[in-house]
Amino acid sequence: MGLIVQKYGGSSVADAAGLKRVANRIVAAKRDGNQVVVVVSAMGDTTDELIDLAEQITPIPQGRELDMLLTAGERISMALLAMAINNLGHEALSFTGSQAGVITTSAHGRARIIDVTPGRIKEALDGGAIAIVAGFQGISQDTKDVTTLGRGGSDTTAVALAAALDADVCEIYTDVDGVFSADPRVVPSARKLKTVTYDEMLELAASGAKVLHLRCVEYARRYNLPIHVRSSFTTNEGTWVVKDHPEGGSMEQAIISGIAHDKSEAKITIVGVPDRTGVAARIFQAIADADINIDMIVQNVSAAATGLTDISFTLPKAEGAAATAILQKLQGEVGFASIQYDDQIGKLSLVGAGMRSHPGVTATFFGALSDAGVNIEMISTSEIRISIICRETDVERGAKAAHTAFELDADQSEAVVYGGTGR
Ligand code: ADP
Ligand code: ASP
Ligand code: MG
Repeated sequence: MGLIVQKYGGSSVADAAGLKRVANRIVAAKRDGNQVVVVVSAMGDTTDELIDLAEQITPIPQGRELDMLLTAGERISMALLAMAINNLGHEALSFTGSQAGVITTSAHGRARIIDVTPGRIKEALDGGAIAIVAGFQGISQDTKDVTTLGRGGSDTTAVALAAALDADVCEIYTDVDGVFSADPRVVPSARKLKTVTYDEMLELAASGAKVLHLRCVEYARRYNLPIHVRSSFTTNEGTWVVKDHPEGGSMEQAIISGIAHDKSEAKITIVGVPDRTGVAARIFQAIADADINIDMIVQNVSAAATGLTDISFTLPKAEGAAATAILQKLQGEVGFASIQYDDQIGKLSLVGAGMRSHPGVTATFFGALSDAGVNIEMISTSEIRISIICRETDVERGAKAAHTAFELDADQSEAVVYGGTGR
């Protein structure tokens, strides 16, 4: 007998029929002799709809109240799922994140899990019940307020619970058959990966492949917990996220494991910055003080005649207004000429441990982009990733071209999208 944690995403529980279908799968896992803990997301696009609703009330909702609102989405699905399982003759008990012992920091909208104390979940399991836990939420250790973990955070709830309960596996059920070499919604010829390492998955998730929440992968790596990403619409074997590719797998291991894209970032360019020691530090300290995450940074060589340079950086679109306001306040002190804001950018990233030992990856990538007519605006690299910024409208064309150039296209089309709206 094992302990399994299963997580079902919003598209898997989009309506009553979906909830009943998932309930049958959960009962089957229980009948196989396992103890089963289920983490569930809000139904369909509920979270987006609740955000839209809040924005109709106020453009900047208070974090505390927004979290209170959004966590209602997962409470609805958890209760309905428990009812569906009870209907099948099995006992199921639903728990909010707080009841399940998910203790977090107090940062509303992006709280981090500090501790998991799943006493009530263990009790439920010991009593023979299936435990259903609302994903994406917890309770702040300091303020005791309800918090959320950031969009896509139910994955992290599942892995954190799996680690705390010492589960044998964490299964993430979604609307595609696993982790693919690119987003199947964008690159229909994408190939399903049998395995992907924590390191590769971290880079993919950080680069925009939203199939797994970034922090869930960090958590799984820390606890060496295997994640099985698979479809809730089929019984196909999915993708295993593990420490290393299995022995013997290296022969077929491609140089590039995947291509990720991200349309959620914007670019700020600070024009005419005096090229003096300490200026960049001053600018980025001000951005950091406002707790704004930045991604890529490029500073041009200053023109000898003027001693002025331009600095560009990317950041989440959601934080663009705040960052621009901070920079405007700094303009007098630093003495730069102007600020340009561009939210029509996209990011494309190549990820693969194999690129370390293969020169020419960058040349192939840029060649493919050039052939597809995609202009590169910024570049950043890590040991196992190359990312570029281009026009948002070029992202899909660039992703397809790079996918083909690295011979990642599947022989037979296997990338089926079973549900979801891609929102
Ligand atoms: P869920 O609601 O189950 O959490 P998400 O929408 O968060 O589902 O994540 C699944 C989606 O992630 C897929 O429908 C797909 O469009 C997208 N995706 C992006 N990159 C990848 C990838 N490399 N492999 C698989 N899916 C990906
Ligand atoms: N419902 C939340 C969201 O849409 C959390 C999740 O689905 O993981 O972001
Ligand atoms: Mg998700």
